[in-house]
Amino acid sequence: MRSTVTGTIWRLPAILLPDGERRDLWVTPGGRLTDAAPRRGSGPAAVPAHGAAPGQALPGRFALPGLVDSHIHVTIRNGGPVGIPEAEETLRALPSTGVLLVRDAGSPGSVTLRLTPAPDRPRLIAAGRFLAPQGRMLAAYHDPVTPETLIPAALAEIAAGARWVKVTADWDRDQPLNWEPAVLRALVDAVHAAGARVAAHTQWAGVAAVVAAGIDSIEHGCSLDADTVATMAARGTAWTPTLTAFNKPFTPDLPVDVREFWEDIRANMREQLPRAVAAGVTILAGTDNDGSLLDEIRHLVGHGLTPTQALRAASTHARTYLGLPGFAAGELADVVTFDADPREDPEVLANPVAVVMRGVRIK
Ligand SMILES: [Zn+2]
Repeated sequence: MRSTVTGTIWRLPAILLPDGERRDLWVTPGGRLTDAAPRRGSGPAAVPAHGAAPGQALPGRFALPGLVDSHIHVTIRNGGPVGIPEAEETLRALPSTGVLLVRDAGSPGSVTLRLTPAPDRPRLIAAGRFLAPQGRMLAAYHDPVTPETLIPAALAEIAAGARWVKVTADWDRDQPLNWEPAVLRALVDAVHAAGARVAAHTQWAGVAAVVAAGIDSIEHGCSLDADTVATMAARGTAWTPTLTAFNKPFTPDLPVDVREFWEDIRANMREQLPRAVAAGVTILAGTDNDGSLLDEIRHLVGHGLTPTQALRAASTHARTYLGLPGFAAGELADVVTFDADPREDPEVLANPVAVVMRGVRIK
C-alpha cells in the first residue's frame, strides 16, 4: 500500500529495537525524526486532546530503524550480470520487507554507480566494480586489474560515486593472496585519502594479512581464527560473514571430503562469530544474493548470536557503521514496525506492520 501521508505526524511505538529502548519519538510532517513533541498546527492529527500525546500512532508495538543488507549485488541475478532495469527491480522489492538500506558489494561494469535515487527504492551505498587480477574472480564479473592499475581503478570508482571499494583479496584456496600486503596497504591508504573505505573478499588463511593491511570490512572471512578476530577488534575491522552463502544445502553427489571441508568451515564460523561479537567486532548482516535478510538473521542466530545481536548486525550496528545511524533526531525517518517482538522470535520480521522510508510511509 502506498499512502499519501504528507503532513502527518507519526508517533512511533514506545519500544525501540533492537535494544528495547523506551523513548518518545515522532516523524515530523517533513519526514524527520524528532524526540521533542511536535508543535500543534501541522494538521488535525497534530492537535492532541488535553494531555494526550501528539501525532497519529504508527501501527505496531515495536520499531526498528530499517533493516540493512550490507552485502548484496543488485546487478547480479542468477549468477550473471544484469542491467539497470533489473537492478532497480531488485531494489524495489526490498522496502516492503523492511530493508531500507543496502551496501552493494561489487558490480560488473560499475553499473550500480549509474543508479539514481528513487522514492520507491532503499538507500544504496555502492562499491563500484570488482577489483581483482586476471583469473582471480568470475570472468563475467570483472575487467582484471594489476598491482599497477589497482589504485587508479579504485580512485576512478570513487570519483564516479563509489563510497566503498571492493577488492578480491583471495580466490582459489590453494593460491596465494591476490595482492602483496604492501599493495593492499597502499590501496587502503589511497582509498581512505579519497574519503572511501575498502571491503575485501577473503575466504582463506591469508585473511590475517588482509586484516593487517588495514582493510575496513572483511567479506565472508570464513577462515578467520581467534588471533585475527582479536586484531579486528583492536583495529575496528568489520566482518560480513554472508552465512547464507555458506549454508546452502549440500547436493547428494557432493564428495565426502568436500562436504567435510565445508562442514569444518561452518563449524569455524560458529566458533568465531560469538567470539567476534564478544570482542566488539562490528558484525554486518549481508545476504550475498543467496537468500533474504531474514535468512541471514536466522543463520546468525544459528551460529551463536543472540537474536538481539543478530538484529543489531542487520540494523543499528550496520547503520552506524555505514554512517546512517538509526533513530537519530533530525534524520529522515527510516522505521519498520512489528506487532510482536523479533527478539523473542526473529520470524516476526517476515511481517512488518508499517514501513516509513526516508520520511514517507510506504506501508
Ligand atoms: Zn558477494
